Amino acid sequence: MSEREVLEMDVLFVGAGPASMAGAYHLAQLIARHNEAGGPAIEIEIGILEKGKEIGAHALSGAVVDPRAFQELFPDDWQEAPFEGAVTDEELWWMTGKGAWSMPIPPMMVNRGKYVGSLGKLLKWMEPKLEEAGINIFCEFPATEVLLDGERVLGVRTGDRGLDEHGKPKANHEPGVDIHSQVVVLGEGVRGTLAKQLEETLRLREGRNPQLYAIGIKEVWEVPAGRIQPGKVIHSMNWPLGFDTFGGGFIYGMQDDQVIVGLVVGLDYKDPLLDPHELFQRFKTNPKVRALLEGGTMAFYGAKAIPEGGWWSMPKLWGDGFLICGDSGSFLDSQRLKGIHLAMKSGMLAAETIFDGLKEGGTVTAEHLSRFPQKVDESYVRKQLHPVRNFHQAFDKGLLGGMVQAGLGMVTGGRGWGLLDRLGAKPGYQHLERLDQPGGPPREEARTRMEYDGTLTFDKLADVYNSGTGHEEDQPVHLLVADTNICEDRCAREFGNPCQHFCPAAVYEMVEAPDTPSGKRLQINASNCVHCKTCDIMDPYQIITWVPPEGGGGPNYSKM
Ligand code: SF4
Repeated sequence: MSEREVLEMDVLFVGAGPASMAGAYHLAQLIARHNEAGGPAIEIEIGILEKGKEIGAHALSGAVVDPRAFQELFPDDWQEAPFEGAVTDEELWWMTGKGAWSMPIPPMMVNRGKYVGSLGKLLKWMEPKLEEAGINIFCEFPATEVLLDGERVLGVRTGDRGLDEHGKPKANHEPGVDIHSQVVVLGEGVRGTLAKQLEETLRLREGRNPQLYAIGIKEVWEVPAGRIQPGKVIHSMNWPLGFDTFGGGFIYGMQDDQVIVGLVVGLDYKDPLLDPHELFQRFKTNPKVRALLEGGTMAFYGAKAIPEGGWWSMPKLWGDGFLICGDSGSFLDSQRLKGIHLAMKSGMLAAETIFDGLKEGGTVTAEHLSRFPQKVDESYVRKQLHPVRNFHQAFDKGLLGGMVQAGLGMVTGGRGWGLLDRLGAKPGYQHLERLDQPGGPPREEARTRMEYDGTLTFDKLADVYNSGTGHEEDQPVHLLVADTNICEDRCAREFGNPCQHFCPAAVYEMVEAPDTPSGKRLQINASNCVHCKTCDIMDPYQIITWVPPEGGGGPNYSKM
């Protein structure tokens, strides 16, 4: 049996998304400037761990990007970043199945001054800058465990390589590495594995709202020349979601006659058999969307959960030896659909917090890290998130309730109904209605599902093919279901096994099994998984845990 290697770092960022990439680079810059100015030299090792095959492989966003953090971080050359185009023309559509009508765009949704961007491409552009700054980037290293001494974080453990499907070592087995670091910055993205472990172990969510989520599903299409200009932005409301389900559609023009088309669906819907992927396919059959895509080809597909809870859903963001940033820390403005610049800024504020400690004696203490929330409070992050702190919660009362709250928030500084400072919330899966109750949603047998034509609309497997997803087949399943008896019996009766519908990658399948109470058993097609985390969030019994598979496995979004 090989020995577990131990690596020493000074500051370790987990997950190479915008928060970690910006944070690591900003920290390196602060130290370089300090050393050039002749202060007592600070010499540290900064590392970033990434589970994907390469930078950007697992990064997915809409995205219309507020360039503010790029301008701060790269003042001399941010305009060389590969944005798809400045937003020059935008529309908001009220959509039905038969048409779409332009509506006035509310001031908070205006995107002038913003840029359509692909997060994967933007992170790729940042990568050589980080390498030049001496930052160690370790791709294909998923962090699977926090190393704790009591309540102090000592570092992280990465996943083993070369285990077979039963967890037994294969010939190429290598145990994961323990990486010790005086500070660990968690920027793992939405529903981060380590952030979830720490939230539970150290009770970081006490007194906070639960996180609220949506799922974003998108395709990138290549369309006939001239169909849409780069930087064109269209958002839509209503169909095919209706008044009860949070979300909306988006269409963004990219370079080279490519177009992003996507749908966001709140993960607090009531109908357990609602299928966000199917709704997205339906969205494309609207005549105006169809006309845009006709004659084109679908090139890429992706899906990811989005943290929508905002200000009141932030966990405690610091502790002894760690900070939490980006989507893991709820740094996303769900009213404006903007998270990239807030994630980057949170990473940069984490860097400044750590740098204060390094300057004041070389060791970053818990007292230094405790200053992070104040830095967040004093930055534009609070100015943006606090006034929209009750936005998503208000959609508990449907689309109209949410729109009224958005208007009310504008005149009350973000207060909710009854001028409450904070509207409460319950986890999204608790909104699911049971099928076996009188008046409950219809069962699967009473529904007609959409048929896909393979030209405009695609089934999940065709879409997964275009996500570039691949996993080593002979490895332990990375979707842990605590009790499959619940799937075969209670869940089948009460909710009709919603995992088959909310998963956008056809990972969960109920297959014939005459010896079970429902006549079906759960089959997990783990190699299809696009790492969106929806199952970990939306399962009604909270018995699914998503854990990182062997390093490098998963989608390839670097061109999305
Ligand atoms: Fe998303 Fe879970 Fe399906 Fe993977 S298995 S694609 S994380 S819902």
